Amino acid sequence: MRTGARIQCDHHAKAGSLPWGESPWRGQGCDRIPPNIPLNDVYRRLLTVALDGALRHVADLPDQPVTVPTSDTMLRQLLGGPAPSVPTEPEAVLDTLLRAAELGLGPTGSSRYFGYVVGGVFPVALAADWLTSAWDQVNATYDMSPLAAVLEDICRGWLVEMFGLPVGTSASFTSSCTLANLICLATARAALLDRVGWDVMTRGLNGAPPITVLVNEHVHASVPRSLRLLGLGGDIRPLVTDGEGRVKLGPLEKEISRTNGGPVIACGQVGELHTGAVDPLRPLCEQIHAVGGWAHFDAAFGLWAATTELRHGLLDGLDLADSWATDAHKWLNVPYESGMALVADADAHRRAMAIHPDYLNQDAGRVRHPIQWGVAFSQRARVIPLWATLTQLGKTGIAELVGRHCALARRLAACLRREPGVVILNDVTLNQVLVRFEHPGGDDDRHTMAVTQAFQRAGVAWASGSGWGGRAVLRFSFVNWTTTDEDVDRAAASLLECHRALRSAPLPGVC
Ligand SMILES: *Cc1c(COP(=O)(O)O)cnc(C)c1O
Repeated sequence: MRTGARIQCDHHAKAGSLPWGESPWRGQGCDRIPPNIPLNDVYRRLLTVALDGALRHVADLPDQPVTVPTSDTMLRQLLGGPAPSVPTEPEAVLDTLLRAAELGLGPTGSSRYFGYVVGGVFPVALAADWLTSAWDQVNATYDMSPLAAVLEDICRGWLVEMFGLPVGTSASFTSSCTLANLICLATARAALLDRVGWDVMTRGLNGAPPITVLVNEHVHASVPRSLRLLGLGGDIRPLVTDGEGRVKLGPLEKEISRTNGGPVIACGQVGELHTGAVDPLRPLCEQIHAVGGWAHFDAAFGLWAATTELRHGLLDGLDLADSWATDAHKWLNVPYESGMALVADADAHRRAMAIHPDYLNQDAGRVRHPIQWGVAFSQRARVIPLWATLTQLGKTGIAELVGRHCALARRLAACLRREPGVVILNDVTLNQVLVRFEHPGGDDDRHTMAVTQAFQRAGVAWASGSGWGGRAVLRFSFVNWTTTDEDVDRAAASLLECHRALRSAPLPGVC
């Protein structure tokens, strides 16, 4: 009879053959604590399976091909089927998951994965992340997790200090840089309209004075997405940029003068996705502030460069902005999802996110209630792994990490540049390298795409194809803490092999 504690588990037969032996759930309901077994033993069994799986993953990673599995048929067979109608022994669940991992994990953790801007995970961050889950901390009000609320306060102060931002800058710890952009721009919207006597929180946007938004034409898609979600999609004007993707000051001045004193937001970038370029921060902020506007920077990965001497060169003027969106999951190598919205005017930030439902205990006083600074109610206490990583590395450790990745980027560029028919398109000032491959036949776009495909299939390393200035490119991003000089050299050798083979063959061809 399949009721109550006597329900049988689906996978008894399978679970019986598992390497960890007889399951305590055997003959019991899989949906409750097995009788006569201490609860911590129950956890120990499953967490040990997880730990073993994780350690195996880490050990195997250096020798795994760096490729993306192409077929999902076996994954679907293994994991899918009809919705589970009865419980399954948890060991069998994990066993299935571990087998699925062999079929379907992306290679993003590899030290030779240079695709998108992804990054790895510091062991201390992973360990702290596991504890965050074990503690099941939710982070809305102080009383839900004093630990998380206090860590948010502490990390806010540390980040502000490390990045050299204005002392009172507020922070929201979000699930992504996209959400951080949204929070910063929601604050900009409320603050600018407040200055012209319009309370957007009570009146909305119907009939509100229009806001002009000037955006770097290469700005990450998460910025226009945030603007549209905020009802600010009506007047987005792209700002002309130079070859690196940096806003040109002349056209910026012209665009600003066209706003005729109305509310205006300018969105720049610290770390362009292709070139790593940083906008001219100081003049951009000064120009926009001269007309009472708001300067916002998407600094998803680039903000970490502010911990290095680049703070006084490339990033000069960073502290003049009104808001910054960034994340810890890319360049700081903290597990996903860990973003941060930083706002110079803490009061404006707080007002834009204000929320006071009766059931949430938000005592006045000096304690922090994370929900007052962000969007979601139930939030993972993602500040815990962030704090652990900031503490282990310290400012000098982060600066060393950033400096090392910039050096790796220069190493790859120097190695590729020597090869006939290989062009480095960007000025390698940060951690991104843009490569283009030329073919004697003249079709460089097709050759670049063919080299990209062959390189990705070869499995030595992985980088993503993209377009820049209307041309096909291959882009490399250095953000994984485990990447070494040798990784770069192996990637370069594989890439050049593909390029040479394809270059001496008529188009199209494969490596
Ligand atoms: C990744 C990225 C984003 C988006 O951040 P998510 O955390 O993925 O939402 C925004 N801007 C830049 C430049 C990025 O690289």
